[in-house]
Amino acid sequence: MLVLEDLLKHIEKRVKELLPQEAEVVKVEAEGPEIVIYTKNIKLFFEDESLIKTLASELKKRFVVRSDQSSLADPETTRSLIESIVPKEAEINRIDFDPEFGEVIIEAKKLGLVIGSGGKILKEIVTKTGWVPKVLRTPTKPSDIIKGIRRTLIEESKERKKILKNIGKNIYRVQTRKTEWVRVIFLGGSREVGRSCFLVETPESKVMLDCGVNIANIHGAYPYLDSLSYSLDEIDAVVISHAHLDHSGALPFLFNYGYEGPVYCTPPTRDTMVLLQKDFVDISKKTGEELIYGEKHIRKMLKHTITRNYGEVTDITPDIRLTLHNAGHIIGSSIIHLHIGDGLHNLVYTGDMKFGPSRLFDPAEVHFPRVETLIIESTYGGPKDVHPPRQVAESELYRTVKSTVENGGTVLIPVFAVGRAQEVMLAFETFAKKDPDWNHIVYLDGMTREASAIHTVYPEYLRKSLQKRILHNDSPFDSEIFQLVDPTKRKDIAEEGGNIIMSPAGMLTGGPAIEYFKLLCEDKKNTIIFVGYQAEGTLGKKVQKGIKEVALEENGKLKGYQVKMNVKTIEGFSGHSDITQLLSYVKKLSQKPQRVITVHGEEKKCVSLARMISSKYRIETRVPHNLEAVRIV
Ligand code: ZN
Repeated sequence: MLVLEDLLKHIEKRVKELLPQEAEVVKVEAEGPEIVIYTKNIKLFFEDESLIKTLASELKKRFVVRSDQSSLADPETTRSLIESIVPKEAEINRIDFDPEFGEVIIEAKKLGLVIGSGGKILKEIVTKTGWVPKVLRTPTKPSDIIKGIRRTLIEESKERKKILKNIGKNIYRVQTRKTEWVRVIFLGGSREVGRSCFLVETPESKVMLDCGVNIANIHGAYPYLDSLSYSLDEIDAVVISHAHLDHSGALPFLFNYGYEGPVYCTPPTRDTMVLLQKDFVDISKKTGEELIYGEKHIRKMLKHTITRNYGEVTDITPDIRLTLHNAGHIIGSSIIHLHIGDGLHNLVYTGDMKFGPSRLFDPAEVHFPRVETLIIESTYGGPKDVHPPRQVAESELYRTVKSTVENGGTVLIPVFAVGRAQEVMLAFETFAKKDPDWNHIVYLDGMTREASAIHTVYPEYLRKSLQKRILHNDSPFDSEIFQLVDPTKRKDIAEEGGNIIMSPAGMLTGGPAIEYFKLLCEDKKNTIIFVGYQAEGTLGKKVQKGIKEVALEENGKLKGYQVKMNVKTIEGFSGHSDITQLLSYVKKLSQKPQRVITVHGEEKKCVSLARMISSKYRIETRVPHNLEAVRIV
């Protein structure tokens, strides 16, 4: 039987056989899902790109080439070379060296100019110095979160390398049990919205999809992790579909309780989830709620995170291969495709997704090589959940806002800091351009600024037209109609009249939005506009349903408020598919699935969507309860 050492040795042996002598390979190591080749002649690999391509196609692995430490030029010489060959217009912000990974990290405003046509400049850097350049985009507005993450990754690079090597050993272990069955255990987010968490198991592997919290329900806040009959360190990998807390909020908790494995997600998901988790910790601290993790666990999670772009195929266990695809929901949001057991079965989990046009993203991906089981969200799975088209929603927003502000009222739009906020910002930017009389400021409070900055770092995750504007220094997020709120001025902004305020939390569950609500709700000149999903039990849902009086905490005591302001809901901005889009998604999938499982919706919506899919398309459907296991092979 092959043991681990043999498997990696075998790969090393084949690598040496397939490469010419002058490749001067020093060692071959698994680092996470990648096989790293250390060489004394990195130049050769960059001059003849077919070398790596041949290895990848022969051995079906992802290869990375790195200089052996002894053949790296000294950092100062490298820095001056970079400064002399990269044009000034690229606006290099900083250059860092990461000797552990043999990388020189160049942060600049215009990446294209650092790369050079056909990668010419990068090639020159690596062939002359041995350092492999990694280019990162500077956000158009300063961002503490991006800066913090980038710094942490460099500071912790020694530790990260150790972690990646351990992960590599686990991935490239020799499979000892045959993939004879596959099942999914539903640990949260079934027949409910919140705490999404599913575990895909084969005899060989255990992979978790999402690990969220339910912020609207303190009694069912976390997934049923304690129901597992084994410890968390037996889980091979966690894959996160997108950053919203109901999908990523419990992830650092795993690292507080013994999980040491990898987290896979897209780069924007990584950055955005750190932003939201940090805020979650801050809010819990302020409200005195019990903390299940702290900043240090978020940092630990970050060290274990391996990012993947859409379409990159990655071995994550001996019998499971992962690919992420665009979900059209928020920045970096992914549909997760798992290829299980070498052709045995293919599972697609949609996460939250939008199968329709929006200003920010392309519609969710429907093309997969194969799909036998589909796990689909059901947020708007009811028969009447039909949303108006985007243009109708935008004109309604325009009319509502105009009539309020022209009467001296203030508009409050509670938004999720990531997703709806940027979508609505783009609508306002268009209003201001089209309406010559527009003279209203849109105030952004809370994390909205940081979230928008993350969008400008990853334009390739946005729709083409938007991408172009950001790359041409015309980011709509930087328009002068948007102003950031100084927290001490909240009262003045709310009471001045004629202003528009966008603030988290989107369901009025906390954040500055509550403060504004208290200041504005008793005056009938003002309007609150809901543009996103409101979960049962939240203040947002109560106000949306027309509650006339609410008791809210004020300096530790409850105080009564009359709700006299106008209450308006505009559905068309949702980042979720409406029922028409959900059904058409199933129909347009490149292959008709054998089985559809509905999750992430109120119970009646999950059931209703499943019924419609089975009667319309004659597909077997399942609506699991939490804690249930569904065998799919
Ligand atoms: Zn979401």
